[in-house]
Amino acid sequence: MKTPKSIHELMAQYAPQEVHYYSDSTTGLKALIVIHSTALGPATGGTRFYPYQSWEAALEDALQLAQAMSYKCAVAELPFGGGKGVILGDPKRDKTPQLLRAYARIVQQFNGRFTTGEEMGISPEDIKVMMDETKFIAGAKGITPDIAPVTAQGVFYGLKACFQTVFGNSSLHGRTIAVQGAGKVGYHLIKLLAAEGAKLFVSDIDRRALDKVHSEFGVKIVEPPEAIYALECDAFAPCAIGGIINDTTLPLLNCKIVAGSANNQLKEPRHGDRLHEFGILYAPDYVINAGGLIAAVQDLLGGSLAKALQETEKIYGRLLKIFEIARRERIAPHRVADRMAEERLRKH
Ligand code: NAD
Repeated sequence: MKTPKSIHELMAQYAPQEVHYYSDSTTGLKALIVIHSTALGPATGGTRFYPYQSWEAALEDALQLAQAMSYKCAVAELPFGGGKGVILGDPKRDKTPQLLRAYARIVQQFNGRFTTGEEMGISPEDIKVMMDETKFIAGAKGITPDIAPVTAQGVFYGLKACFQTVFGNSSLHGRTIAVQGAGKVGYHLIKLLAAEGAKLFVSDIDRRALDKVHSEFGVKIVEPPEAIYALECDAFAPCAIGGIINDTTLPLLNCKIVAGSANNQLKEPRHGDRLHEFGILYAPDYVINAGGLIAAVQDLLGGSLAKALQETEKIYGRLLKIFEIARRERIAPHRVADRMAEERLRKH
């Protein structure tokens, strides 16, 4: 078993600006709010409700996620910094309206220096409950009932940038694309790709999700789900879980491009270097999947869905630039993206 890192090691690794700890015996709320950086603007990041084994595990998750938000905002050129909330507990057992309201009152106290929204374990219904206590929450103004279609739109533009870079043509017509996960984002991505005339192969562990995309778009189903890694295709689009580019899957891959919505696709940064060595183009996850964040930020700023979609289209040019630098400097694209984010954060 991995030895948990000490608080000292965690703080040295992630260098957060602020860490706030909350424990409320009346509602049973146990929470952390981490502000990684406000260099580019007020911190933003969803709130995750998860049965962490310990405060240390919750802290490490919050620190990692808050830092990722800082990088994501910086590369997407958004006037926001990275933050994250985590609530410790089993959402199925411990989530009550009283607890959510207590948490929302804490968010309100930040007075906009930390804004939050949906994440694992927090549903749109929970957001509605929290809105009774705070306006500093994405979804409060409601430019879209669901951000997943905007994320999918960004991944679609990102895939086009990948095809342009690898094949010199951004058209997806007739291209073979393997999509892992037909959930909220995967479904909308499959819809866009089918309309463009791509040949689609889809895996999921949920039979109903597969039946839906098969009947609506005629996609081919990949069974068993793990067979998707070795499938011969032009692009592999991970839209399910993290860590899927790892020592086991890397030697199996039979594609030219890895580009999808899943967070933390690389098990470790070195796996991105291996993709690069294998000649597989990787679209850094937090660059290609920023559409949902862009929509959430537009919501917070009182913008519109049209503006969010316009900003999301910029993912195409942003990725082309990253790929060009990676080619020139002979380094992997995820290294270029991290460097861009760190430079933007340092400049301010
Ligand atoms: P979701 O839960 O709606 O969909 C995930 C799908 O993946 C489900 O259908 C699930 O059954 C399937 N799945 C789980 N394990 C699988 C496996 N081993 N093989 C194949 N399929 C599997 O989630 P979502 O909102 O569509 O998000 C998908 C990914 O994109 C996640 O990693 C999420 O963090 C990331 N992401 C989502 C958004 C958004 O706007 N929803 C934004 C940025 C990033």
